[in-house]
Amino acid sequence: MDNFGKKYIERFMAELEAKNPGEKEFHQAVREVLTSVVPYMQAYPYLLDNKIMERMVEPERVIIFRVPWTDDQGEIHVNRGFRVQMNSAIGPYKGGIRFHPSVNLSIMKFLAFEQTFKNSLTTLPMGGGKGGSDFNPRGKSDAEVMRFCQSFMTELQRYIGQDTDVPAGDIGVGGREIGFLFGQYKRLRDEFTGTLTGKGLAWGGSLLRPEATGYGVCYFAEQMLATRGKSFKDQVVVISGAGNVAQHAAEKAMRLGAKVVTLSDSDGFIYDPDGFDEEKIAYVKQLKNVRRGRIKEYVTQYPKAQYTGEGTKPWGIPCDIALPCATQNELDGAAAKTLVANGCYCVVEGANMPSTPEAIEAFQAAKILYSPGKASNAGGVATSGLEMTQNSVRQKWTAEEVDAQLHRIMTDIHEACIKYGTEEDGYINYVKGANIAGFIKVANAMVDQGLV
Ligand code: NDP
Repeated sequence: MDNFGKKYIERFMAELEAKNPGEKEFHQAVREVLTSVVPYMQAYPYLLDNKIMERMVEPERVIIFRVPWTDDQGEIHVNRGFRVQMNSAIGPYKGGIRFHPSVNLSIMKFLAFEQTFKNSLTTLPMGGGKGGSDFNPRGKSDAEVMRFCQSFMTELQRYIGQDTDVPAGDIGVGGREIGFLFGQYKRLRDEFTGTLTGKGLAWGGSLLRPEATGYGVCYFAEQMLATRGKSFKDQVVVISGAGNVAQHAAEKAMRLGAKVVTLSDSDGFIYDPDGFDEEKIAYVKQLKNVRRGRIKEYVTQYPKAQYTGEGTKPWGIPCDIALPCATQNELDGAAAKTLVANGCYCVVEGANMPSTPEAIEAFQAAKILYSPGKASNAGGVATSGLEMTQNSVRQKWTAEEVDAQLHRIMTDIHEACIKYGTEEDGYINYVKGANIAGFIKVANAMVDQGLV
């Protein structure tokens, strides 16, 4: 990058940090995108003249609201709710809802910002948004979760709608929560529309939506591996997380011939040297989604596996392929160096921004295959887009039809990354490719629509 570019970034970041103090995840996400797109904007100066990046980092709207609810003992609790409506240049705001005690404005804004580029990459007409609450669903009864969801939706319903803003699930928000949220939305608005995605199959949901993010990660990884003449066959795969994305990434990688050896949660990780099979994956789904247990219980059922606690992560286990599928900044520079030293040659993100900037630097310096979440985990929101289409035309597609579209979208995103990310020495910089490809469409739509 030339001097103008470097100075532009430093000035831009200084202003952003002064205006949004303490929002470190948001700063991190903006800096990464900026580093990719500034040279592109220099080549097309009308984007600089139109102050496109300055406009993109300012959410169109941020809604923060009180969420009061009572627990099973009748005690009152108050949580904070958020919806960041980041960018609607190419379609209604679209992005998940996260329930986790760490949720704050910085995390909401970084996720909504990333979502804008991701949604653009899917080729579907969806803008970027994200929402959530610092509510912790862990240890809560179904009735408590329902009362919380109803209170959350009672306020949120004013700001969303099938043509305005269409939320989905994320950490802590799965099928159960989407059901409670949808039920309350329908009750208050008296309309049965596709305002939320990730719905149950009997009431407007799409086949394959629960599987889509994890499956999409593996379809994208297959494309990446193919650039080096490889596939999942006989590769050892390490996965973090044990939720929706991790479970389905593990299932698909295993079905594509890989030996998947780890899963984790915030307490620690399990290592199964024999790898997962269909029965073990079914056990994990039952454990996490129905019994809502902890991953350490896996070793009681399968004693050949080992559990390591105290919040440790699985990155020290030697592997060929790593799929971080838990949360942001879960893989730091030291972990990245360990992975590379142990022979890992492919890292494909299922979570949003799981690798720190130092980790990304280590992967790219070693020239291993590395894809950011906004490219490789876009299968989830893409299938949400397909759910919206099915709802609009009041039809239901078969699993084969949805899977074929998911496959096509992941292949298209991979091609876009190659187009904009291939460097002079032939190395595919997926960060650059995804950022530029995602940026172009949104930026040009903003120019077309005037100063709004
Ligand atoms: P889930 O709630 O289903 O699972 C999250 C998993 O990550 C759990 O095992 C959880 O463990 C673990 N986890 C969460 N926070 C932390 C933390 N601070 N440290 C360590 N482990 C943690 O969420 P999803 O699987 O839906 O989401 C996982 C990631 O994928 C997120 O980054 C999300 O934004 C991203 N994503 C999800 C999509 C989707 O369709 N669901 C789409 C695209 C991206 P514990 O139970 O201990 O909290």
